[in-house]
Amino acid sequence: MNKLSLEVKGVVAVLTLDNPPVNSLGLELRQALVEGIGRANADPGIEAIVLIGSGAGLSGGADIREFGTPKAAAYPNLRTVIREVEDSAKPVIAAIGGVCMGGGLELALGCHYRVAAPGARIALPEVKLGLLPGAGGTQRLPRLLGIEAALNIIVSGATHASEKLRDTPLFDSFAEGDLLEHALRFARQVIAQGLGRRKVRDLRLDMPNAEAYLQFVRNSVKAVAGPYPAPLACVEAVAAAVDRPFDAGLKRERELFATLMLSPESAALRHVFQAERAASHILDVPNDTPLRPIRKVGVIGAGTMGGGITMSLINAGLPVVLLESRQDALDRGLANIRRNYQGALRKGTLNEASLAQRLALITPTLNYALMGDVDLVIEAVFESMEVKRQVFQTLDGVVQKGAILASNTSALNLDDIANFTQRPQDVIGLHFFSPANVMRLLEVVRGAKTGTDVLATAMRLSKTMGKVAVVSGVCDGFIGNRMLARYGAAAHDLLLAGALPQQVDAALQDFGMAMGPFRVGDLAGLDIGWALRKRRAAEFPDRDFSNVSDVLCEAGRFGQKTGAGWYRYEAGSRNPLPDHHVSAIIEEYRRKKGITPRSVSSEEIVERCIYALINEGARIIEDGIAQRSSDIDLVYLNGYGFPAYRGGPMFYADQTGLHDIARALKNIAARPGSDSAVWTPAPLLTRLVQEGQTFSAFKGSAK
Ligand code: NAD
Repeated sequence: MNKLSLEVKGVVAVLTLDNPPVNSLGLELRQALVEGIGRANADPGIEAIVLIGSGAGLSGGADIREFGTPKAAAYPNLRTVIREVEDSAKPVIAAIGGVCMGGGLELALGCHYRVAAPGARIALPEVKLGLLPGAGGTQRLPRLLGIEAALNIIVSGATHASEKLRDTPLFDSFAEGDLLEHALRFARQVIAQGLGRRKVRDLRLDMPNAEAYLQFVRNSVKAVAGPYPAPLACVEAVAAAVDRPFDAGLKRERELFATLMLSPESAALRHVFQAERAASHILDVPNDTPLRPIRKVGVIGAGTMGGGITMSLINAGLPVVLLESRQDALDRGLANIRRNYQGALRKGTLNEASLAQRLALITPTLNYALMGDVDLVIEAVFESMEVKRQVFQTLDGVVQKGAILASNTSALNLDDIANFTQRPQDVIGLHFFSPANVMRLLEVVRGAKTGTDVLATAMRLSKTMGKVAVVSGVCDGFIGNRMLARYGAAAHDLLLAGALPQQVDAALQDFGMAMGPFRVGDLAGLDIGWALRKRRAAEFPDRDFSNVSDVLCEAGRFGQKTGAGWYRYEAGSRNPLPDHHVSAIIEEYRRKKGITPRSVSSEEIVERCIYALINEGARIIEDGIAQRSSDIDLVYLNGYGFPAYRGGPMFYADQTGLHDIARALKNIAARPGSDSAVWTPAPLLTRLVQEGQTFSAFKGSAK
């Protein structure tokens, strides 16, 4: 396939990048660019060259699929291409429209002139993948825009509209009409006026007190970069543009880039980037599966979840019929929705007029007749099989044929819910996380009979709402909560062994978890788990569901909402304070169980809790509940506060080494009192260790 076309327009050669969807600068396009520049230079009739992109814009940058493969470094690499462009004997003009990001912007910076169209999106987003612009961006951009503006763009990775940069030296001209026509006119002007080539590398970079300014930037960036090395490396690369000649600066940029490329943080961020793209592909559902139209949605229940789900839908412009069983519950739900928008109003991210527009999309009702013409219903009523049965049987009777019926259940069996209807193929689980309007994660639960078009439509809807959707099979807790149960049990075991809640939380927070499990418990409310354990104990009388938090609940300590749980809280504060009453309760609990406490290290805490997640994750793949390990990573990153710089539990396992993980699990399983069914390495983990494989590379059938 030809990824670049050369067209001669009088004395100007137009090179059009044609590598959909975003003209990423993969090897074939790079080869074609070098060849095209060479041909235009060899043609005596040509006096200038215009570089332009077809489709989405000039270029979205490097082809991330090449990262870590020999293709990424294969000749000509991007730096070579840019040097060929910069060294072209004939002036090269970049015509910038649509996306012009990363390597695409670096290519434009290597051109002798830049003309831009309104609406172009300009960015150097490498920092978001834990990298820096490695093809001269850190050396050329400061020479054009000055250190401060360049640092802003490079360190933030943010996208800027071309209009915002219109009057800066980044652009030599701004197109009002057709971009190509404008670029051609500009090229003819360059020729007519004999302007020749202007190389950005030759511009002087002057800034009084640059060193003092850079020191200030280093300090501020260090304070916010957390565990990520890339933002500071970006500053160092720009600093090299200030104090070294151009080629020495390029060399320094290269060294810093190479170091970042090998950093575990960048590997994790690149993994996450690719995981998000992979998640939307369902193994047995072809990409061209016809979708069902979703023009109007019904939501049943205006409680915590129904309210948040409604907000996600109206934020995406979808009309919602919101149904409740009682007027007071409906009024309360609507008032909560309004209140939840107040923050956005205060911050100015939303104005009164657009809020009114969104709220007008809601039709509140107590009447199922209004559900007749919706294309999708999302049920978010109480977590009771009996209530769900009534709702789904009613929906089956009133909702038009072909509509999708979804349940937000967290723990009930979706297949049983589907069988309440005469159309189980139209039933799916849409498991949102709380607060549903904020959390990006959506577990799309595929029932035994869910239709592939229903599944594909749900994935598309999730994209419309700006969510990260992960497909999960039906099992207790789906992917996320099934793993969370193991993690919570591991944390609880550590209390029994001799640790205190604050010690467990601190170790896991040092590991990078947004919040330790006991703080999370206090935030969510300990009474929820208590009620669940009581239900389970009634269902399975021969099993022991007891937990230290039962004792806390019996004492009225439900967490933050009662001012005490695993921690104590001062009035009006959410700051968890260690509480000697809790230590006493735990000690008493251990005594009753006949456990002699021992000292527990932070390493052991992290190992047990995180390895428990990994082992259950392996079983989830084995059972066919998750399609791939990176889906599990997305669930944990987006729903459970797992640190992005570790890439998710399964990626972390790969990085740590599956052999070491399996060995540690075996050691735990062999300890007296351990539940060996839980801690024995999952068969898939054992198999991958034997084969020297990783979770990421594992593509085969788990069975
Ligand atoms: P909630 O108690 O806040 O809201 C439930 C709402 O449903 C109430 O307003 C109630 O009046 C209404 N309702 C009850 N029966 C009804 C009926 N027959 N018809 C119409 N409305 C009815 O509960 P929630 O936390 O929003 O949970 C709802 C569902 O979402 C449950 O299945 C729950 O397991 C699930 N879920 C909850 C969370 C969470 O963090 N809260 C997260 C994911 C999923």
